[in-house]
Amino acid sequence: METLAKLNLSQLEEFVEALGEKKFRAKQLYSWIYTKSADNFDKMTDIKKDFREKLKQSAVVLDTKIKKKQVSKDGTIKYLIEFQDGKCAECVLMRFDNRANLSACVSSQVGCLMGCDFCATAKSGFQRNLEAYEILSQILTIQQDTGLKVTNVVFMGQGEPLNNFDNVSEAIKRINEDLQIGIRRITLSTCGIAQKIKELCSCELVPTLAISLHCADSEIRKQIMPVEKKYNLSELKEALKYYCDKTGKRVTLEYILIGGLTDTKEMAQKLCEYISDLKCNINLIPYNPIDCSKYKKPTKKDTMLFKYLLESQGKKVTIRLERGADIDAACGQLAGKA
Ligand code: SF4
Repeated sequence: METLAKLNLSQLEEFVEALGEKKFRAKQLYSWIYTKSADNFDKMTDIKKDFREKLKQSAVVLDTKIKKKQVSKDGTIKYLIEFQDGKCAECVLMRFDNRANLSACVSSQVGCLMGCDFCATAKSGFQRNLEAYEILSQILTIQQDTGLKVTNVVFMGQGEPLNNFDNVSEAIKRINEDLQIGIRRITLSTCGIAQKIKELCSCELVPTLAISLHCADSEIRKQIMPVEKKYNLSELKEALKYYCDKTGKRVTLEYILIGGLTDTKEMAQKLCEYISDLKCNINLIPYNPIDCSKYKKPTKKDTMLFKYLLESQGKKVTIRLERGADIDAACGQLAGKA
């Protein structure tokens, strides 16, 4: 059985010709899979019946299954997707009442190697990289299940995308070409693998970059993010400046406010110094406690004070709206639990 989500338009053309059909049938198939998000061949009504029957015998659209689906009070939907080998990863659809955007947060790996101390995914260890079509399949699953068109994609689910560079860059290309999502609407979030950030700048399509900075003090960052031991804050900054120069884009710095640790006045001051010469926006994320966590949620007052201190230095700061916390779909809570 062929999995059609693995195929782009020219590969679909080869596939239909091998089935003894005319090349133009591939365009119809392509449109049903990627534009209309059909999940089975019976829905493809403008394709002649005998070809549909042939397709049923020889192919499936996706080879993934929804193992679990949870809907939050705020409309966020979290899916646990099972891949062909039985491994699972999560993806999330986020909706915002006042915006037309529908953002899919996708996973790039099953588990993660990076070991960030506050992260639920890190606790489950690393299992394997996801292939490009398995990343694409997460978006197609969301579209098939909801009947909605995803407008934005963020690589902020399970895994470190830059540790799965080739599959992620292929997935970005296909999200852009096959799902018709503009490159400005694709964001890759990394914990800060400096060398790969530079490599990313040479790709044909360079996504918007978000960095999980979380702390501008090297010693504390080492405690919560082991990546700091390999690529420290100054190497990271050099890579970020390179990205900004090469692409003309700003980076978004994600900063988790952990009560009493990263949310203090001193930490705000260190952050201001770190970003003083960087083209960036800052997204503050009040920490969501996960099971057995030793870290605390910040108070509202400390969160607002932290924001104010950054803004008074002229920085653009947002506080991330908490989405799906009741279903463990908020940042750092994706653990792939069945
Ligand atoms: S925060 Fe991201 S990079 Fe860090 S362990 Fe979790 S999934 Fe991996």
